Amino acid sequence: MAGRKSRPLRFAIIGAGMSGILAAIKLREAGHHDFTIYEKADRLGGTWRDNTYPGLSCDVPSHLYRYSFEPNAEWSRWFSSGAEIQAYFEGVAKKYDIESDIRFQTEITRAEFKNGRWHLDTGDGEGDVVDIVICATGVLHRPVMPDIAGLEDFAGASFHSARWNHDVALEGVRIGIVGTGSTAIQIVPAIVDRVAQVSLFQRTAQWVLPLPNPAYSDAEKEAFRSTPDLMQETYDQLDQRFRNTFARAVVGDREQMAKLETMCRQNLRENVKDARLRGRLTPDYRVACKRLVMSDDFYPAIQKPNAELVTAGIECIEAAGVRTRDGRLHELDVLVLATGFDAHSFMRPMQVVGRDGLSIDQAWSEATEAYRSVAVPGFPNFFMLVGPNSPIGNFSVIMISELQLSYVMQLVDLVHQGRCREIAPKMEPTRRFNDAIKSAMKGTVWVSGCKSWYLDQSGNPALWPWPFERFAEEMQRPDLDDFELLA
Ligand code: NAP
Repeated sequence: MAGRKSRPLRFAIIGAGMSGILAAIKLREAGHHDFTIYEKADRLGGTWRDNTYPGLSCDVPSHLYRYSFEPNAEWSRWFSSGAEIQAYFEGVAKKYDIESDIRFQTEITRAEFKNGRWHLDTGDGEGDVVDIVICATGVLHRPVMPDIAGLEDFAGASFHSARWNHDVALEGVRIGIVGTGSTAIQIVPAIVDRVAQVSLFQRTAQWVLPLPNPAYSDAEKEAFRSTPDLMQETYDQLDQRFRNTFARAVVGDREQMAKLETMCRQNLRENVKDARLRGRLTPDYRVACKRLVMSDDFYPAIQKPNAELVTAGIECIEAAGVRTRDGRLHELDVLVLATGFDAHSFMRPMQVVGRDGLSIDQAWSEATEAYRSVAVPGFPNFFMLVGPNSPIGNFSVIMISELQLSYVMQLVDLVHQGRCREIAPKMEPTRRFNDAIKSAMKGTVWVSGCKSWYLDQSGNPALWPWPFERFAEEMQRPDLDDFELLA
């Protein structure tokens, strides 16, 4: 480094969700204070701000679903509610005094790389020019509205599950829910005792892994408070359990997969008494091909007298309700579209234009490919958290983001220390990496014959096809031979 001068850098962090807050904390820790977090909404929290539907909880254990450096003795249950997780992120942002660095209600509409810096349009004419962009825009944040004829004709209240309308009273109403993903499966048990009737419109059945969710006792919380090492031990144990069981099963470990299959089949057999209903709830694809749903209370809820599983298929929506293909009209007061998210747009609709006018839409026109999930050739000093092929699914996305950020910080350091002004992955290693991903995907359960949000327009899962350890290892240190460093 002799003779090189470190240079101060200005950063933009896009998004004030879990990853954006993390990036701000870690930038400061590394001595970088010149940054702004741009957030399009008026509150931080990302997915935990957007989703407020009844029954919302996280199916990654509370003591694992937290920043590694911010344990929380107060989690009330093994698996936390959405509100508790939102409060956690707000608490961490407050503790680290992050909120003053967030520009709320400011959406970055365009980021263009010109003369070695990123020029950002903020939509309000003000803009910003920065050296480094950290794109923390999340994955599941663009709701998908179903393409069902007559959706706009419905006379009652209708909304997407991620835009829950809390002004609509549920007591005594007839409610329809479209979809059977993790979201719908959490909503049904949470509302079934409040509404007059719930109709669940199922297009595809789901495997359901049983998941008890006991409360932590006061004594347990006190033990966590008084012995912080206990929280670390719990975190490490949960981490190991996830890595060695679920994370292995989905990428080809037959023994672990057999255990998952047994648990799901047994759950269905033991908890759904009626053979006809059981048949309709039985998927025709392999366990965990779609993102596995976890619940202890869905099967009891769907068997209640005021709940109905509708499998006839939706013909159209009318003013009075949903008409199914068998000609029946399901009269409804409220219709919830638990129809999921577009998981492949990443930072878009923001326009991103890299070197030589190359846009991200052009770079990703055939496939959404990145170098090791964090960067794209032609887009120097632009880094993504939870980008394409991150090992998302049923693992703590916080741990993933932390690993990616520590990798990105090593690249940022090269710019900061004056080793280069611009850094981006080379095309050839990026291609090699993506070829390896594609070939490894063949051994995963995600391509075993089902439709899911994991698959992109070409049918390739945007996931990590190897054990989690490999991701953790590859995120330890960048291989600089794979990067282009411009002075
Ligand atoms: P999802 O898993 O993508 O499920 C969407 C559902 O809507 C599917 O059942 C789909 O049917 C159905 N659907 C879509 N369009 C339809 C149409 N035109 N007609 C009929 N049905 C239609 O979405 P999600 O449940 O919101 O979950 C998304 C992801 O968010 C989860 O997989 C998970 O990663 C995350 N999440 C996590 C938790 C948690 O506890 N950690 C909770 C909620 C969500 P098909 O299956 O036939 O396509």
